[in-house]
Amino acid sequence: MNYKAPRGTHDIFGINALGMSLLEQKSKEIFKKYGFEEIRTPIFEDASLFMRSIGHATDIAEKEMYVFEDRKGRKLALRPEGTASLARAFIEHRMDISNPAGKFFYSGEMFRYERPQAGRYRQFHQIGAEYYGNSSPAADAEVIVLAQDLLAAVGIDKINVYINSLGCERCRPFFRKTLIKYFSSAQDLCNDCVRRLENNPLRLLDCKIDADKFIEAPQMADYLCDDCKENFNLVKSLLKSVDCVYTVDGKLARGLDYYTRTVFEIRSDSTSSQDALAAGGRYDNLVKELGGYNTPAVGFALGSERATLAAQSAGLFNNFKEPEKIFIAIADQELFNEAFAFAVKTRNGLSFNKDISVFGPINGKNLTNQLKFADKIQASKTIVFAKTEFENGKVLIKNMKDKTQTEVAISKS
Ligand code: ATP
Ligand code: MG
Repeated sequence: MNYKAPRGTHDIFGINALGMSLLEQKSKEIFKKYGFEEIRTPIFEDASLFMRSIGHATDIAEKEMYVFEDRKGRKLALRPEGTASLARAFIEHRMDISNPAGKFFYSGEMFRYERPQAGRYRQFHQIGAEYYGNSSPAADAEVIVLAQDLLAAVGIDKINVYINSLGCERCRPFFRKTLIKYFSSAQDLCNDCVRRLENNPLRLLDCKIDADKFIEAPQMADYLCDDCKENFNLVKSLLKSVDCVYTVDGKLARGLDYYTRTVFEIRSDSTSSQDALAAGGRYDNLVKELGGYNTPAVGFALGSERATLAAQSAGLFNNFKEPEKIFIAIADQELFNEAFAFAVKTRNGLSFNKDISVFGPINGKNLTNQLKFADKIQASKTIVFAKTEFENGKVLIKNMKDKTQTEVAISKS
């Protein structure tokens, strides 16, 4: 039987694995600069945690969650995103009291039952950050700039930042009503829009199917209360002060229920896809709704696969050089143990930033076949352990390209 990875999942290897590791590594360096600490949460949680925080009338809750029962009948879900899990951990460990201004980041697999296509998978990775306890617009601007820095760290600098404000519990209800009224007279809405009209009218604004019909739809910006307006203006002026170029997109609604005030998306303008590389926003009520102390928060998540693809098309690996490969061979079988010990010692002696990989020795092949193997893995040099030379404290170093050969003394200690 031929097995294949399940639909929507993929094996990450070669240049893609390198790209994703580099993104993760660089992101850790940047998170440190901003003072974000790592949290690793479980891959599955109570399904109700996601239902409650993300909201029932959303793509994720309605059709994308992997929900299952364990042997004791507990209803669990593979995490579709990180914010709810982090908020749960934040409250569970009472960081809402001990560390109310906590800054955290995560990185790992997420699961959504979606129709697979380029940049859209059923198992994918996100790198995300959550900044708790700071209701200032400076925190919003900080995470937007942070997301931009992460992308820039892997060479993605041709991006567009879109921002919007969804208002607060004071001004949003009126906007919702206005929207419901407006949409009620719209013709031929798609099934999702019809279903969401009452529960989640904001979601209609960023419906990919009906977008063209809503060009004239009311915009939240015109309904913001004075506080929200001032808040949004401050976010914008802070972004301007650091030359972060953004576009206000009055229709940016984001899929999840927990957002308040600032929401944003970062899209690449170098790839053909208009899909977002990163997205996030403020969610001042989530911690309280999940049973914690009232703690404002703002965060974002970046799609690692999409960012890795964009980094590659931006030329991340154009000058990429594989590590130099050195192969250890034996001309006499009885030197196998010495050659093996030499390989281990050589690897241990390599400093971490040396781009060298040491292969071999391998058993049961004559020297000609060992050299063929060295060619196959594209070794630049082969170190040959031969009896006469070894007795004189020497090995042969073969240059695999020009086939020249030199004798070199080795220490036997
Ligand atoms: P989209 O509108 O593309 O469905 P979303 O609003 O569902 O995105 P978020 O929940 O905000 O996305 O997730 C943040 C980021 O995670 C996205 O901008 C994207 O880069 C990435 N992402 C989301 N879903 C997927 C997926 N199924 N496969 C790969 N990456 C994804
Ligand atoms: Mg989605």
